[in-house]
Amino acid sequence: MMIQINNLVKKFDDFTALDGVNMNVEKGAVYGLVGPNGAGKSTLIRHITGVMRQDAGEVFIDGEPVYENARIKGQMAYIPDDMFYFLQSDTINMMHYYKGMYPNFDEKQFYRMQEFFPSIDVKRNIRKLSKGMQKQVAFWLALCCKPKLIVLDEPVDGLDPVMRRQIWSIMLDDVAVNNTTVVVSSHNLRELEDVCDHVGILNNGKIMIERSLTELQGNISKIQIACPYGMPKIPQDFKVLHMSNIGRVYTVIVRGEPDAVVKAITDGKDSPQVVDVLPLTLEEIFIYEMGGEDYEVKDIIY
Ligand code: ADP
Ligand code: MG
Repeated sequence: MMIQINNLVKKFDDFTALDGVNMNVEKGAVYGLVGPNGAGKSTLIRHITGVMRQDAGEVFIDGEPVYENARIKGQMAYIPDDMFYFLQSDTINMMHYYKGMYPNFDEKQFYRMQEFFPSIDVKRNIRKLSKGMQKQVAFWLALCCKPKLIVLDEPVDGLDPVMRRQIWSIMLDDVAVNNTTVVVSSHNLRELEDVCDHVGILNNGKIMIERSLTELQGNISKIQIACPYGMPKIPQDFKVLHMSNIGRVYTVIVRGEPDAVVKAITDGKDSPQVVDVLPLTLEEIFIYEMGGEDYEVKDIIY
């Protein structure tokens, strides 16, 4: 495990911001931490990065407690939501500052990567760059630290879609090559849709659900059926989570592995004419996965 968090509690006076968080992030995972504003994402991230000290519970990074652990912090890059410290100087100076702080900093890589950021004037004060450019510089320098773990707090908030895609593609190429672990927070699940292979949903200071994408996708199926004889009959082994239709074409979301569900549906004598397996979006998966619970999932992840 790259990150293991057990029963983490953090209070601000009498307000409990983290209320017994359990979280596990495998090495090489791109883990999306999703939750509404105020859920505690930034607070949790400040514990993962060893900025804050917990009131109770444990935070292990690569097997070691992270608080006041210089060795672990030297292998971790953190892009905070405010980037306040970052706005003091220009990119070149910042690069030298990082070089001094991070033992694995790769200056050659910094210059190699410059071609990805043609719009950045590296001698201009970072404060004077656009918000999107500031984020680009932050990503750029973070990758040059050659970290084992990158932690990003709402990194693409306020960026246009083109910039977002560009930043993610640079980032994901790099982390795939180096098997870097990434934790990225967002208040919007959709934002992380194409990026993450693991998702944890944080609400009211607790991780409500933590899943890998393969685990999620294998266990839930969205199937479209043309059914001339009315509602399709789904064998009882498969729990129907949702069914809708337009005329004779039914869309069903069923708990179960797609091939098995299709086989079961097409087995009967009045078997339907057309069966299509459709991809589920992350939001659909979570909505139906948690549909039976007594909270409105949509309110939590958008
Ligand atoms: P998120 O990043 O998910 O929006 P935060 O972790 O920033 O949530 O905040 C979680 C809750 O903790 C909020 O209610 C916030 O007001 C409170 N909080 C965060 N930091 C502090 C602090 N330093 N002092 C007091 N309350 C705080
Ligand atoms: Mg936050």
